[in-house]
Amino acid sequence: MNSQSPIRAAFQQQRATALRLRTSTAAERIAKIVRLRDAVIARREVWYKAGEDDFRKPPGEVDLAEIAPVIAAANHAIRNLASWMKPKGVWPTMMLLGTRSHLRYEPRGRCLIISPWNYPLNLTISPLISAIAAGNTAILKPSELTPHFSTEIRKLIADLFTPDEVTVFEGDAVVSTELLELPFDHIFFTGSPAVGKIVMAAAARNLTSVTLELGGKTPVVVDASADLDLAAQVVMWSKCNNAGQTCMAPDYLFVHASVKEAFLENCRKQLTAAYGVTNDGRTHVPFLAHVVNRRHTERLKGLLDDAMARGGRALTGGVVSVDDCFVAPTIVDGVDFDARILQEEIFGPLLPIVEFHDLDSVIDRINAGEKPLALYIHSTDDRAIQSLIERTSSGGVCVNHAMIQYFHANLPFGGVNHSGMGTASGFYGFRSFSHERAVVRTQLSMAPKLFKAGEVPGWLRNVLNRFITWI
Ligand code: NAD
Repeated sequence: MNSQSPIRAAFQQQRATALRLRTSTAAERIAKIVRLRDAVIARREVWYKAGEDDFRKPPGEVDLAEIAPVIAAANHAIRNLASWMKPKGVWPTMMLLGTRSHLRYEPRGRCLIISPWNYPLNLTISPLISAIAAGNTAILKPSELTPHFSTEIRKLIADLFTPDEVTVFEGDAVVSTELLELPFDHIFFTGSPAVGKIVMAAAARNLTSVTLELGGKTPVVVDASADLDLAAQVVMWSKCNNAGQTCMAPDYLFVHASVKEAFLENCRKQLTAAYGVTNDGRTHVPFLAHVVNRRHTERLKGLLDDAMARGGRALTGGVVSVDDCFVAPTIVDGVDFDARILQEEIFGPLLPIVEFHDLDSVIDRINAGEKPLALYIHSTDDRAIQSLIERTSSGGVCVNHAMIQYFHANLPFGGVNHSGMGTASGFYGFRSFSHERAVVRTQLSMAPKLFKAGEVPGWLRNVLNRFITWI
């Protein structure tokens, strides 16, 4: 009797397939991506229902942030894969004149994709598209916090792939832990920095390469020159979308003292126009997602209570219903930097505001924290924009907008250090799931000569000396 666990058995089964896929063609990989894309589109109603059942995710947001990015990622790969896969010729250097070299993108092999709950379909299937494009097998582990999505993803994959190529294991950290013991060729993890460290430590035991798409505290800067209408619209949209449960959502906001009141007034208008006047009314609007579960709602309540206890004021919202997993969009003013809301990733519709007078203090503050996933700048002053970009670090930057950098398939998406390492999206996703292999071919006779007792003759030393100064 075979006593191997289902996870180990699946991993074992994928070995032969991974070797076979090494020689798969662009056309074969594209055919799989087309089938996957079409099946995602055909199940639209399934995703709406899973969104509603898991955390009342509005259908419009399922369209925009779950289905559309998957379709866009698939179409981009379908259009470009043949050129991504082509070996890239490389010029010889002086040292290797006479050789011909190229870089080829070979599949890594057996890959593991662990995904979070906040965009369950997109953040599981988009990396899978990159993995398939690069010619790999994959095991997927979606989040236990969105069980309806996870089950539907499992069914989708079971309908399209045999388990020796792509398969899904549902479950929590126990399942992840068992998966992480295996010597995968690559792990693509999306989730929190805390679990990212666990994943990286586990990967190190097998010397498995990792892509870590993590989170953190993404700052927004609204300076005195900003278009305040646009800034309020963008900030409120990006903070309320998915109820702020987005890795690259604005986490906290610096606003110049001279425009603070006008900006906040615009923010209030945006919230009222979108969700109505009363908090009670806002709990029932169909286009405001809820918090994923009770534990996270209590966590957000804890952040808000701590901010209030430290002298913070809720300028809007301020209402939390733990039973209903609801947090009203809340702007919090007057909080000091020791408050938990300015220390921990918020991941909810709470927005602490920090007033500033000079840009240097903002830059110092950003640099005092971990490097964030994104930096958002609202300004029309090119020098201020340049200064913020040059003197800080973040995964990406977006000027006069937010979150749209994720949708730009010709740009890499990813964090830096605490907010992640490695990249997703388009060619960069394909590259993450590929090994860049260097191939050098020589036609001339360049065989090294062995010298007696390792001693290089004088004439050769002279030639080498001249050569070294020449190159
Ligand atoms: P999480 O880290 O708690 O969970 C992510 C995945 O890891 C889940 O599948 C979960 O089951 C698994 N997991 C949990 N504990 C584990 C453990 N001890 N060992 C192994 N695996 C474990 O993250 P989450 O709550 O699902 O998602 C929110 C976090 O993800 C936020 O920090 C957010 O910023 C980040 N995020 C980042 C991106 C990005 O693209 N950079 C996208 C979405 C979310």
